[in-house]
Amino acid sequence: MSRYTGLIEHYRNRLPLAPEARAISLGEGGTPLIKLERLPGQIGFEGELYVKFEGLNPTGSFKDRGMTVAVTQAVHEGAKAIICASTGNTSAAAAAYAVRAGITAFVLIPEGKIALGKLAQAVVHGAVVIQIQGNFDDGMQLVKEIGQTTPVAIVNSINPYRLQGQKTAAFEIVEELGRAPDYHCLPVGNAGNITAHWIGYSEAAGIKTQSCALCDGQCRFCDRPFARNRPKMVGYQAAGSAPFMRGGPVKNPETIATAIRIGDPQSWDRAWVVQKESQGWFDECSDEAILATQKLLAATEGVFCEPASAASLCGALADIKSGKIAQGSTVVCTLTGNGLKDPDIIMKDGLKGLIQVPAERSAVEKALLAHLK
Ligand SMILES: *Cc1c(COP(=O)(O)O)cnc(C)c1O
Repeated sequence: MSRYTGLIEHYRNRLPLAPEARAISLGEGGTPLIKLERLPGQIGFEGELYVKFEGLNPTGSFKDRGMTVAVTQAVHEGAKAIICASTGNTSAAAAAYAVRAGITAFVLIPEGKIALGKLAQAVVHGAVVIQIQGNFDDGMQLVKEIGQTTPVAIVNSINPYRLQGQKTAAFEIVEELGRAPDYHCLPVGNAGNITAHWIGYSEAAGIKTQSCALCDGQCRFCDRPFARNRPKMVGYQAAGSAPFMRGGPVKNPETIATAIRIGDPQSWDRAWVVQKESQGWFDECSDEAILATQKLLAATEGVFCEPASAASLCGALADIKSGKIAQGSTVVCTLTGNGLKDPDIIMKDGLKGLIQVPAERSAVEKALLAHLK
């Protein structure tokens, strides 16, 4: 058995990094692909439904896959600082990988609406946290401008190395299933991750994407036959923050799924190419449905993801019920982040079901008996 040391070491020959570039890694990748056992039966689905739990990456989201490659390349190019705009998870990842590299991370976060756990991560890793009086889209605009005049490397998903790292999730799925799934469902914010997965599936299938512009000329490993099929890519947005459904930017996006509270997606054109090439689609989920799915997944399958992550499963369940996702097919839903980042959303209704009893054996036994199935 060999020790797993992160996705750069594991997929080095499929990543556009110089051989001498020192990998800045926290052992990211290699996340579990969990087959759901109860939910499919509950909705009469006879196919296979998997969740890829990206919340088990080192900082608790898929952003680590992109960050390890982006920071490795930035340091290789001599960067002493990185910068990003973030709804939370990118800042957590940037902060941690900057520490690992011994450089400075600047993170621009929106006013309010950032999960406490994510903010705590940026703080504990010593990032320079700048809160702007605006939303993510305002922060992104500022970062693009500052990146042109200041010697800092931008590590948002407009950095092509981010998508290169994130594509490895698709490699893992193909290797584990022995083929690509029929459908791959993701929550969509900037649409970098859905694009990265399509790059990954395409490379795994040995197919050149129509626009190799997808990966900004980075995907020179498309000659690698593995599986011949590719999934339909399905992207779900929160209803109050759904530019792909509205056909253009949304001015003041609002959703409890703060990680996808993005009105002006940076990978807009790329994501439409993905939708067309894969013959997939976009759809939207209400905040209520997203939260209900988060709780359903936790209570029926034992997997606790953050609200934004639940959008993928929320949409998939709806599309399975309607028949849009074909009966009998294999479906993978990406759970982008860990539920522990945002416990407030669960606890805001109070400690439901808490039983308080005297510290006596009989009282505890009575409480147990009342709940034995
Ligand atoms: C970043 C993020 C997303 C959105 O990914 P994009 O690549 O911006 O579409 C979704 N969920 C979580 C938890 C995230 O951190």
